[in-house]
Amino acid sequence: MRPKIAAGNWKMNGTAAALTELHSLATGLPENPPQVVICPPSTLLFRATDATHGSPIQIGAQDCHTEGAGAYTGDISATMVADSGATHVILGHSERRDAHRETDADVQAKTCAAWAAGLTAIVCIGESEAERDADQTLDVIGAQLDGSLPDAVDAENTVIAYEPIWAIGTGKVPSIAQIEEVHDFMRARLTDRFGAEIGNALPLLYGGSVKAANAVEIFAVENVDGALVGGASLKAEDFAPIVAALAQS
Ligand code: PEP
Repeated sequence: MRPKIAAGNWKMNGTAAALTELHSLATGLPENPPQVVICPPSTLLFRATDATHGSPIQIGAQDCHTEGAGAYTGDISATMVADSGATHVILGHSERRDAHRETDADVQAKTCAAWAAGLTAIVCIGESEAERDADQTLDVIGAQLDGSLPDAVDAENTVIAYEPIWAIGTGKVPSIAQIEEVHDFMRARLTDRFGAEIGNALPLLYGGSVKAANAVEIFAVENVDGALVGGASLKAEDFAPIVAALAQS
């Protein structure tokens, strides 16, 4: 049985006032909640772990450096993320691959750093609209999986998020058949590389314009184990129904 995971990526949104959303979310969790991981900006990590103390909500960062410490102005290390009480870190989000030129090799090195600090890596991959139009989606996804994941992957240290770039923040969502095709492909690629036990145990999230209105049908897809949610994770009233849909899936 794979865990169900609802992860929220707040991106560069949220000041201290946003911590009330965590209280509201914790109060409204369903009876048997899935794993819920909120990834606020790094300025809120310590306060977010305090705010969720005693609730099942876990906290994650949105990036970390490959090194544990050093002369890297503006960066934070996985050790610092773990020191905040966070348990997860998003790595290789398309916004970082694009704006910060992060490569698969960078993502792989950051994943190793995350593991060394005891964090679970949420590794993001996804094709551009041009790549989908050119029928290259599965090639791109396969190459990103191969390049971004270290050999020591297991179901405790890694979660994979398929996020088609063209669906992030756009309101455009792939068809259920398209999501199913990519998730089945990822499952097969992972079992080929890591063996059936690990490959079948790795949680696979879908991300890209997930809302309460489309969550139920997305979570019904066999190899979708949850979602990485951007915009709809900022407000508890938007995220709670997605968490509830996952709990019931
Ligand atoms: C994301 O940024 O990871 C994301 C999926 O964003 P949104 O849900 O807003 O499309």
